[in-house]
Amino acid sequence: MKPLLINGQWIETSHAVPNINPSDTNDVIDSYAEAGMAEAELAIAAAQNAFDDWAHSPVQQRHDVLKFIGDELMQRKDEIGRLLAREEGKILPEAIGEAERAARIFDFFAGEALRLGGQVLPSTRPGVGVELTREPVGPVGIITPWNFPIAIPAWKVAPALCYGNSVILKPAELVPGCAWVMAEIISRSGLPDGVFNLLTGPGRVAGAAMLDAPAIRALSFTGSVGTGKVVAEACLRHNRKMQLEMGGKNPLVILNDADLETATDAALNGAFFSTGQRCTASSRLIVEEGIHNRFVEMLTEKTRALRVGPALDPQTQMGPVVDQTQLDQDVGFIESARKDGANLRAGGNLKRCDTPGFFLEPTLFTDTASDMRINREEVFGPVATTIRASDYDHALALANDTEFGLTAGICTISLKHATHFKRHAQAGMVMVNLPTAGVDYHVPFGGTKASSYGPREQGSYAAEFFTTVKTAYIQS
Ligand code: NAD
Repeated sequence: MKPLLINGQWIETSHAVPNINPSDTNDVIDSYAEAGMAEAELAIAAAQNAFDDWAHSPVQQRHDVLKFIGDELMQRKDEIGRLLAREEGKILPEAIGEAERAARIFDFFAGEALRLGGQVLPSTRPGVGVELTREPVGPVGIITPWNFPIAIPAWKVAPALCYGNSVILKPAELVPGCAWVMAEIISRSGLPDGVFNLLTGPGRVAGAAMLDAPAIRALSFTGSVGTGKVVAEACLRHNRKMQLEMGGKNPLVILNDADLETATDAALNGAFFSTGQRCTASSRLIVEEGIHNRFVEMLTEKTRALRVGPALDPQTQMGPVVDQTQLDQDVGFIESARKDGANLRAGGNLKRCDTPGFFLEPTLFTDTASDMRINREEVFGPVATTIRASDYDHALALANDTEFGLTAGICTISLKHATHFKRHAQAGMVMVNLPTAGVDYHVPFGGTKASSYGPREQGSYAAEFFTTVKTAYIQS
């Protein structure tokens, strides 16, 4: 059993959760301790006790700790990528890329630790000065989803530590492996005991205990809209700072003047890479009439050619769905689209492979209407639709016809339309001639509407959430 990390100690529990390979359900990677109420309380107390010293720690110490973690993640990216592909089902190049991204995030925040600054302002009163400084918020709870098993824990934990907070991390129960490796590296990084604590296991126990703990002063959550609402209510009860990153229903608009190769590649990547299990996936392809049939022909061909199989097979281009529950959800959406009259152009069936796994063909529906269920709710699987648009204005209206607002993309060579779309797409991130998924690690990440709540993640904008501003008045 892989134990919990609490106050610098490795702690086993009476129950453990098996970590099962979605490419081969006979392959049990390991089992991970299931944190109960008692362990959650210990971790919260540890983070509380360790907070004050870490909040006032020298920035050199913070830099060195974060650099150590980033360096080791980078050295071990191939090994961690392999584990990630095995536990989540992403193909190996994507998984190694994610491990590398986690390393670069720690490296970025190692640098940020040395760039902490403030502001000095004149007061409106004579002889008085004003200083603004950023201070850590307190013990921070971090709850993460299964689809980015190391990048999301990294992009929350690294800034939390950089800005002087103590942390309790609760990774998704389906993918504890990568978070555990990251925790093991952190445990040898020189970080004082109790500043970082790891609780593995289901959210309804350890996660819920974190939500109920008044000592946790900020909560950063990425996951589903439903759980996000539970998190939000608890945070309001405790007057706690919160950051929620939730679902998406991201549009990719293809205008008549788009380069067909660019547009179909962007759609294929955005819809199906990482098995469509990205919050930034392009699930609604909004296509202008004049290019519609050629776009659908070419995308159908590319979609059918994608090789589905086990994540570690070098021939595989799209790995399995993460588990049976998610697979059932994907199949349910496919059935509902069929019933609603959508035209199935590619995929739609389970895929048989040599190993027992959760394989689903990449699935493309055309001629769908914006009000069909398939275009309203997040599938979170390899399923995309096309919707016909009569012109640019209609395409923009369709793109914005969703409760979500994470990313939005447009394929066009028109500067006028690209510029207008950047300004009018209701999304936190806009891509031009690029897939809606695939973002840099050093710039803000987040959405609008039902996709996100609270300050942006990543880059130097992460300071907004992980610090609080103090205003000091000084009479000289
Ligand atoms: P989920 O909401 O089921 O779980 C997310 C985390 O919350 C897990 O660690 C889980 O254990 C925990 N949790 C569950 N119930 C809890 C409770 N009652 N109290 C406290 N914690 C609890 O989401 P998921 O299925 O792991 O992830 C998929 C979702 O994540 C999708 O909707 C996807 O769009 C979203 N996502 C969003 C982003 C983004 O940045 N917007 C990024 C990745 C994933």
